[in-house]
Amino acid sequence: MKEKIKEQFKQRFGTDCVTYASAGRINLIGEHTDYNGGFVFPGAIDKYIMAAININGTDKVRVYSMDMDAYCEFGLKEEDAPQEQWARYIFGVCRETIKRGGIVKGFDTVFAGNVPLGAGLSSSAALESCFAFALNDMFNDNKIDKFELAKIGQSTEHNYCGVNCGIMDQFASVFGKKDCLMRLDCRSLEHEYFPFHPEGYKLVLLNSKVKHELVDSPYNKRRESCERVAATLGVETLRDASYTMLADVRDKISDEDYRRARYVIGEKQRVLDVCDALERGDYETVGRCMFETHDGLSRDYEVSCEELDYLNDVARECGVTGSRIMGGGFGGCTINLVKDDRYDNFIATAREKFNAKYGHEPEVINVIISDGAHKVED
Ligand code: ADP
Ligand code: MG
Repeated sequence: MKEKIKEQFKQRFGTDCVTYASAGRINLIGEHTDYNGGFVFPGAIDKYIMAAININGTDKVRVYSMDMDAYCEFGLKEEDAPQEQWARYIFGVCRETIKRGGIVKGFDTVFAGNVPLGAGLSSSAALESCFAFALNDMFNDNKIDKFELAKIGQSTEHNYCGVNCGIMDQFASVFGKKDCLMRLDCRSLEHEYFPFHPEGYKLVLLNSKVKHELVDSPYNKRRESCERVAATLGVETLRDASYTMLADVRDKISDEDYRRARYVIGEKQRVLDVCDALERGDYETVGRCMFETHDGLSRDYEVSCEELDYLNDVARECGVTGSRIMGGGFGGCTINLVKDDRYDNFIATAREKFNAKYGHEPEVINVIISDGAHKVED
């Protein structure tokens, strides 16, 4: 990819360039925990957005997207974001950097990527983080701290793309490290690296390619349930709740709220258990926790759907070590930890059975935990 981008840059702009990249991400465990003050556990993957960049001595940014085969330019003093969605991410990153007192000068860039779009791997965060990192390196002597780079990406989504996301995706893309997952405490925003190098296993996503749009926002309803239980318990978020506390208020809350809270409390503990297991290199426990998360999301939190439950069932039948829904639910991917010798059979079976039942094959996306935002050396 690097050679292709550099060649395209040379053709279009005729100057030398520097290359940067940032990654998409997975979240191994810790779902619907962010707004409950809990933990998430993401890692950057070997799927990137890569950009060749050079300062152009003007106050304009000139961008060519290889994947969209489209060109766009915008001024750095302009308030109006470009029409093209893909260019708004870059525009937003420039604006948000300037807003924070960072320096941005005119530049030329050609970029491309291989993070699947809209599959739940956060190609948008990869795009933002790539440019946030590049602007920091090229114009700001790397003085903007890494957490601020993640926030530049997050604010870009909020202010220029209409997506009210949390910080996890950009955090993972900026902070990602090869063979490491990161436990992010969504309350204190502290993070810690844990080794993830599953020798003898593969990590593979199956994208169901379905998305069920529901009438009244289930996401908001889940949040409200959690807030109601926290209020009944007299704690700020469910981060501070335990099973015992929940049992004490059982007759004061609805059965539905009870089950929602039971999932969140369990999930908080599972992230911690997975971290302990990884320190021992115990991937069987990691897998067990993934299955438990799936069951919790499906039965207690009720954010699964038929297609994802089916993929999870197939995983169990094929002796997969761990499998669960990844992301908010109601569609998207499952993430699977599979022993090498079970992998071929699992993939073949999942393709065949899913296709027979739903009329299309799931998309197979193999991932390796890799570095996040970085300068690509020549
Ligand atoms: P995701 O879950 O992958 O982040 P989003 O809808 O949030 O999905 O972001 C996808 C958008 O990001 C695309 O519509 C496009 O505007 C931009 N994008 C992602 N990857 C690329 C790419 N390789 N080239 C151009 N734009 C991209
Ligand atoms: Mg996105």
